[in-house]
Amino acid sequence: MSEAGKAGLMAVDAALAAILAQAQPLPAETVSLTHSHGRYLAVDVAAPLDLPPFRASALDGFAVRHADTPGRLRIVGESAAGAPYGEPLGAGEAVLISTGAVVPDGADAVVPVEWVPDAGGETLLVPERVNDQNAIRAAGSDVRQGTVTLARGTRMSAVHIGTAAALGLGRLLCGRPPSVAVLATGSELRQPGDRLAPGQIYNSNAPMLASALATAGASVTLLAAAADTQTEHREAVALALEHDVMVSTGGVSVGGHDLVREVMAELGVHELFWRVAMKPGKPLSFGVRTQPDGRRTLVFGVPGNPVSALVCFELFVRPAVAALQGARDPGPHYAPGTLASSIRRDPGRDQLIRVRRAAGGALEPLRGQQSHQLAELAGADGLARIRAGADELAAGTVVDYLPLR
Ligand code: AMP
Ligand code: MG
Repeated sequence: MSEAGKAGLMAVDAALAAILAQAQPLPAETVSLTHSHGRYLAVDVAAPLDLPPFRASALDGFAVRHADTPGRLRIVGESAAGAPYGEPLGAGEAVLISTGAVVPDGADAVVPVEWVPDAGGETLLVPERVNDQNAIRAAGSDVRQGTVTLARGTRMSAVHIGTAAALGLGRLLCGRPPSVAVLATGSELRQPGDRLAPGQIYNSNAPMLASALATAGASVTLLAAAADTQTEHREAVALALEHDVMVSTGGVSVGGHDLVREVMAELGVHELFWRVAMKPGKPLSFGVRTQPDGRRTLVFGVPGNPVSALVCFELFVRPAVAALQGARDPGPHYAPGTLASSIRRDPGRDQLIRVRRAAGGALEPLRGQQSHQLAELAGADGLARIRAGADELAAGTVVDYLPLR
């Protein structure tokens, strides 16, 4: 048995797998193209037409038969963008053409306007041989009709929206964003903007998690912080359980005021694991609440220390929110990163070290690595995952790097 297993901790990868196993995509809904940014496609999108839809000119010039060049040609008309020249091109003829305009039937090349600076009037002199198909974009040379162009599970960004628009798609079938309730717990918490009495601190986790959830595509409800009493916890957790996902922070450790898991259990949450072999973030709990009508809530109890809260969010909650929307690859999206200095491994737990990328790209651990040092985390570029082990990882070792921006 591993060190982590002995201590009753869930391994990080096993915890993620357990969460994703519960995060089946929510039903899809139709979304207008203009509102689809950040949404996940629920189906493969096949091109309903060729792109370009017709043979188009790649530049301004003259559509010709290449076999007629070099030579003097008769200008018989114009094909402008959106206003094609209606007839087939005959031998010895040329048609003035603009970029993106239909190349007339019979033409097999476009002579760039730069080649024929004094073209005007009725004829033009093409000084050189032009190649067959010169400056012609074949129909379907970008996309062939019927080809899957945007795959199911793609998260729509500007370029995907542009592609869907080019294909004429005004509406898309996308995964429904989960509604997520954020609940901070702790009698010491005050809202930013309020005055602090002795012993109080500001609630940083709730707004932080709400903003992180918004970037993950969730529809967020921020609940008022609950004091460390059974009554306030019960009320707040009951409200939070009306959502597809609830994320609480604080109150999941072993202190006498840590009531969250107990109240969750009372309200029907079936806990699937508590405590993960990681640092920070060890006290994370995860469960599911199923209502009599079958509606389910994924329930995350993330620790109260702000760095732990954000690390748990990035490793577990963000992937779950993506999976609920039907993401093809819910993450976390680690990239390889090289350690700038050596790091001692922890025998029992994976460490998520706050790092900055140095000039050459190597990962430099920040000085403040304690789980309350949120301001220090704010200066980090990302997290380096140092897997549990007995030895020290030398400078130059390649590890999993999770960018935070
Ligand atoms: P807990 O997990 O409730 O024992 O909290 C651990 C530490 O995190 C304590 O120092 C709390 O004051 C702090 N903490 C808990 N919740 C928050 C929060 N929402 N914002 C900032 N700090 C918090
Ligand atoms: Mg607390």
